[in-house]
Amino acid sequence: MKLWMHGCGPNPQEGARHLKDLGFSVVVGGQDAAEAVLAQGMEYYICTGAYRGPQFQGDEWLAEDMWGRKQAWFSSTCPTREEVRQYNLQQVRRLAATKGIRGILIDGARFASPASGEPEAFYTCFCPHCMEKARRMGFDDKEMRIAASMLYDFQHGKPLDLVPYYAGLKEWFEFRRAATTEHLLDFVQAVKEVNPELETGIYIFAPALADLVGQHYRDLARHMDIMAPMLYHCYADENGPACLNVELATMLRMLEGASGLTTEQRIRLLSGLTGHELTGYESVSSLQAGLSNRILQRETERARIMGPDTQLVPIIQLDAPDIEEAIQKTMAGGADAVNFFVYQQAQAEALRPLWERLRQ
Ligand SMILES: [Zn+2]
Repeated sequence: MKLWMHGCGPNPQEGARHLKDLGFSVVVGGQDAAEAVLAQGMEYYICTGAYRGPQFQGDEWLAEDMWGRKQAWFSSTCPTREEVRQYNLQQVRRLAATKGIRGILIDGARFASPASGEPEAFYTCFCPHCMEKARRMGFDDKEMRIAASMLYDFQHGKPLDLVPYYAGLKEWFEFRRAATTEHLLDFVQAVKEVNPELETGIYIFAPALADLVGQHYRDLARHMDIMAPMLYHCYADENGPACLNVELATMLRMLEGASGLTTEQRIRLLSGLTGHELTGYESVSSLQAGLSNRILQRETERARIMGPDTQLVPIIQLDAPDIEEAIQKTMAGGADAVNFFVYQQAQAEALRPLWERLRQ
């Protein structure tokens, strides 16, 4: 199988040589490492962020919750501000002109997830720009705002029936989807404008979490050449946006005060996982400690179903326990290749026999 690695360390020349020696053939990372990797005869994809930029630092760029409070999340701004979007697309066009690269992957094009900052950051973005955009896109901004407030109250123990607010919640998540898809299709167009031969791809949330942040596999798989689901399933740090175990543990913690729900129903409320898949993970601490490799196969299968023709390259943790089984499960789910996060010289070297086996 073809081996992908995210990053090549602080010294790109040294990292690229090492990865070549270990048998890796594709590297993803910043523009600064492109030359070193290409010089080793490997393929290179540039990874770019989305809703950020050095000039968007002040509070006025932050996302807002339903009550107009500014919320910081994952160093990102409000996800719909036109100035930020246009700046990102301009950066993408600049990166697309890099000689010799195979393509560009976008990361962080989404709304806030439960584990993206303070818990309240999830309840964004209801800023005036987003609400105006929502109205223009045909969404009912008032209904969205009320439904999100009800979910917040419910989460904090207020006994209420969410059913009457279902339409509003759906509206809120559909707005997230429409706004995110718009930016991602603009991203694809920006890359192709500069060089139609380049491939476009996305570091996307796992299928179980993607709809929550506005990333819709079925919208995107038709336009992206590469879908790279982030299947980090046993991330050790409690602060781990996009990591399955961290997001699910945070979700459960968020909903601990919600009345009348079982643990399974709490997880089901916001994620796409079934009770069966969560057997054995009934507490915040058991989720935080990490999920079994089985989830890698399940989530890859889901991604494959929603993008039958796309190049599917899930990215998994380089430090995952039993990494060989993790790779097998991911491939068994229908992946075309596996990418690893993130290059660490000693870790990659310790796995040399594994890389040799995988190349055969
Ligand atoms: Zn906004």
